[in-house]
Amino acid sequence: MKCYLCPLKCGAERAEQKGACGEKEGIRIAKYYPHMFEEPVISGEKGSGTVFFSGCSLKCVFCQNYALSRSERGKEISPRRLAEIFKELENAGVHNVNLVTPTHFIPKICEAFEIYRPKIPIVYNTHAYEEISALETIDKYVDVYLPDMKFFDPSLSERYTGKKNYFEKAADAILFMMNSKKAVFSDGLMKSGVIVRHMVMPLCVPDTKRIISWFAANKKNGAYFSLMAQYTPVVRSDKYPELNRGITAGEYERAYEELLKSGITDYFIQELGSAKESFIPTWDY
Ligand code: SF4
Repeated sequence: MKCYLCPLKCGAERAEQKGACGEKEGIRIAKYYPHMFEEPVISGEKGSGTVFFSGCSLKCVFCQNYALSRSERGKEISPRRLAEIFKELENAGVHNVNLVTPTHFIPKICEAFEIYRPKIPIVYNTHAYEEISALETIDKYVDVYLPDMKFFDPSLSERYTGKKNYFEKAADAILFMMNSKKAVFSDGLMKSGVIVRHMVMPLCVPDTKRIISWFAANKKNGAYFSLMAQYTPVVRSDKYPELNRGITAGEYERAYEELLKSGITDYFIQELGSAKESFIPTWDY
């Protein structure tokens, strides 16, 4: 069957060939473990049970998990094995199961949930370049959405991802998520809801300001905003010289001031020192 899961709609016959996301239909993962560096309401004290999937439909040139998004890492596992991993993570005492860039494996991930449905919340962690039809398929298994909102300006998303329609798709996807999940907390942890993440990029504070305004005007059901400072120049390239440095204290301050002015009261911020390569996971497979 041809695949049209994501906005690329490449129509690959994934039983035999890789799609533009870099993956055939079998699930591939590169790591699963209790991750301590998500927002405090996600990681808590015992960590977020994070599963990193291989491949990506967005492929940012500055990807912080480059080898993974380019499908250089990962091993194939069955839906049954993924269901066992859900159980292992749950038994390890993590606060939730956190699926990172999972969309291109939605049909197989749904099979895993039919085998075992964890009793802890399921977090859907995505770049937000999504089709609503794909989100509708997985929505009944998801408790918390953790989408990025990367770019507002189509020329920026085109430069850094090759996709001019990123904002259009991400905005629709985030509106769907905010309509679907209302914020619910218990013991300082998010049990249901949406956290929209935005990573401030070098020279891109004007774009950050437009994203903050968009969120302030559209937020609903208690959605949170997370302003991230962790951009790290993992991939250095002469083609994008402006990305070969982290963000400055001034850039982050201007972004934070905009957040304070926006009227958004439910938010997370990061310390500027979060931009360290040591925070980027190493892959097991
Ligand atoms: S998920 Fe992968 S195979 Fe399917 S349409 Fe998107 S890029 Fe193509």
